[in-house]
Amino acid sequence: MSTAFTHDVIIIGQGLAGTVLSATLQQRGKRVLVFDAPLAGRASEVAAGLVNPVALRRTVLTWRASEMLAIAGAFYRDLGLRYDELFWHPLPLVAIFPTAQEAGIWQLRISDPETGRFIRMDTTSDQALDGLPQPYGRGIIDRCAWVDVRAMLAGHRAHLSARDELIELRVGSSEIERTEHGVRIGEHAAPLLVHCGGPFDAVPGLVQVKGEGLTVRIPGLHLAKAVHRGVFVLPMGDDIYRVGATFAWDEVWSGPTEGARHLLLDRLQRLVDREVEVLDHWCGVRPASKDRRPILGRIGAHEAVFNGLGSRGVVLAPWCAQHLCDHLMDGAAIDPEVSVARFAD
Ligand SMILES: Cc1cc2nc3c(=O)[nH]c(=O)nc-3n(C[C@H](O)[C@H](O)[C@H](O)COP(=O)(O)OP(=O)(O)OC[C@H]3O[C@@H](n4cnc5c(N)ncnc54)[C@H](O)[C@@H]3O)c2cc1C
Repeated sequence: MSTAFTHDVIIIGQGLAGTVLSATLQQRGKRVLVFDAPLAGRASEVAAGLVNPVALRRTVLTWRASEMLAIAGAFYRDLGLRYDELFWHPLPLVAIFPTAQEAGIWQLRISDPETGRFIRMDTTSDQALDGLPQPYGRGIIDRCAWVDVRAMLAGHRAHLSARDELIELRVGSSEIERTEHGVRIGEHAAPLLVHCGGPFDAVPGLVQVKGEGLTVRIPGLHLAKAVHRGVFVLPMGDDIYRVGATFAWDEVWSGPTEGARHLLLDRLQRLVDREVEVLDHWCGVRPASKDRRPILGRIGAHEAVFNGLGSRGVVLAPWCAQHLCDHLMDGAAIDPEVSVARFAD
């Protein structure tokens, strides 16, 4: 193969990983080409888009919460400015305590200097929230956000298409030609290929986790904040809410299930004693990892992976893209905590 490259980087997959990576590379002046096919079960298309720095089951901060949150907020705000849209929407999250014990743990964590910067008891009056059952009270996480993932993917897709940098095609492994100097797919060649195929990629350490959720209409509820009580309820405006999501490790490609629908509605109705109309039932497969950290780095002389975003892809993707670019473009060391090499035999 000649070394007359058509691009600096070829990317396979335009979910969150491929979108954020290609935008980051473009910001650094690189010529990118993205291949993407809308495969059933892809994660980003159904991601609720919630950014929450606290793991609610244990009331502990998520991995590198402050750093991830700061980088994510800056990235999505900036991308929105570039496309004249708003992707990052600050949205406080209210946690309704299911037991006295959970209320006690929350109270305890407030006194921790790090966690205490993110959580507090919610004693303010809010008509919509005050009407929900909450014998043990509620807490609030102010620095949460909602990212309009679908709008962001569509906006970036339009941007790539306008520059002839997107090809709608499922790339089979036999179509990737590897040579001494780089990779070629059809007539396109680059010194580097990054696999961003999410749950469809065969990546060391990858774990596929199915998630299902519902879009519902609940007239008269009027929630202005996101709420969690066994399930997340995200207000989308006009009495519409997204409710989810489930976690399942078996039969991940089986599509929407009655079992998940019942589970979600049951949890929702423990919280909201109102008429609920189901508008949509969605599902996808999260590309998680064995140790719940992203999976980044080189898997060959001219290939790399960006995967393992799990259930927190929105907040993790911008940091991961920066870190991977620093590594691939500038030769910076890759953090062992996220390196694909940690899963080497
Ligand atoms: C129900 C549900 C709710 C979620 N809610 C949230 C949330 O609220 N907040 C949050 O942070 N995260 C959430 N997530 C997780 C989030 O969706 C993922 O972390 C993230 O979307 C993963 O992005 P990805 O780009 O790695 O994978 P994907 O989004 O699956 O993207 C991979 C893309 O590559 C394409 N592709 C794959 N192989 C090929 C090929 N060979 N050729 C061409 N194209 C290919 C696929 O079709 C797809 O478009 C949720 C996930 C699910 C399932």
